[in-house]
Amino acid sequence: QRTRRSGHEPRRTDSPTWWPEELQIVNVQVGEPGPGEIRIRHKAVGLNYIDVYHRTGLYPLKTPASIGMEASGIVEAVGEGVSHLKVGDRAAYASQPPGSYCEERVMPAMNVCKLPDVISFETGAAMMLKGLTAQYLLKKTRPVEGLEKGDFVLFHAAAGGVGLITCQWAKALGLQLIGTAGSDAKCQLALANGAVHAINYNTEDFAARVKEITDGKGVKVVYDSVGKDTWDKSLESLRPFGLMASFGNASGPVPPFAPAVLGKGSLYLTRQTLFSHITSREVTQAMADDLFDVVASGKVKIHIEQRYPLKDVQQAHRDLEARKTTGSTILTLD
Ligand code: NDP
Repeated sequence: QRTRRSGHEPRRTDSPTWWPEELQIVNVQVGEPGPGEIRIRHKAVGLNYIDVYHRTGLYPLKTPASIGMEASGIVEAVGEGVSHLKVGDRAAYASQPPGSYCEERVMPAMNVCKLPDVISFETGAAMMLKGLTAQYLLKKTRPVEGLEKGDFVLFHAAAGGVGLITCQWAKALGLQLIGTAGSDAKCQLALANGAVHAINYNTEDFAARVKEITDGKGVKVVYDSVGKDTWDKSLESLRPFGLMASFGNASGPVPPFAPAVLGKGSLYLTRQTLFSHITSREVTQAMADDLFDVVASGKVKIHIEQRYPLKDVQQAHRDLEARKTTGSTILTLD
């Protein structure tokens, strides 16, 4: 474990950090699935920002560790007690434990879903973690007053992987999503995907712009995966009784704060994680079916904007952390 390396901006964490070049491909024996497990041969692997948190140690893993939470492939063997999958099925997943950066693995079957024929392996790998996240954010993470057609919501990093899916899905649900992004080009992308307004938060005060757009009222929900850099202004962007839905920390973890900061407008705060939603096969399948339907209908398109061979995973991580990517990214396998 190293705390510094040259030639690359250090991560903004206080803990010791694993750098991209620590990611190494090794040969391991895969083995046979035990009860409740499957063996899957991957066709494509999804890249996610959570992989950066795992790599750096922001979300600690016991090392040496495999990382990656998303992939698609073909089921090659099925363990005892697994009834929803059979050998030869096309499948895709967002699942714990991490370890999807590989050609083949044995893993718990619970969060692995059959992939509909109309959805390609690459799309499946690019959308499960991101799409299920958009699903629970828009459908299950509700302010006490509920969300209705026409309501304004604010979504940070709107041109990213989760972002582009959420922009389109919010539009399909009739919500007015205001997106933020780190460049004008990314703002254009968010607008092209259904955001009604896009704010470059590197050059504009997004809380002030949100107030302008909403006639001084503020939004009902802020979906904040940026964390430290956006926290204060996200709270400022909410209307009274609004919901701050924190679900990530791309700019670094939010420092400790006093609950009294929520007093300005009697605000609500939740810290959401996908894996507290997908705790049973039934729930995972219902959420995945919702995602498959909206993708198959064409209302949500999965934009795979970057592809890297698995052997170039270090570069994929550098580009993701340097904010060079948009939409979804996949790691390809020969
Ligand atoms: P993205 O493709 O959205 O990439 C992260 C984006 O965050 C960047 O492109 C960048 O966009 C923005 N960002 C803002 N500040 C920084 C910074 N200092 N360093 C790096 N990036 C920054 O990633 P994902 O779609 O994979 O995930 C989006 C977020 O959602 C992540 O924070 C992730 O952890 C979270 N997430 C949470 C889940 C949960 O259940 N809690 C599940 C899935 C994802 P820009 O340049 O436009 O600012």
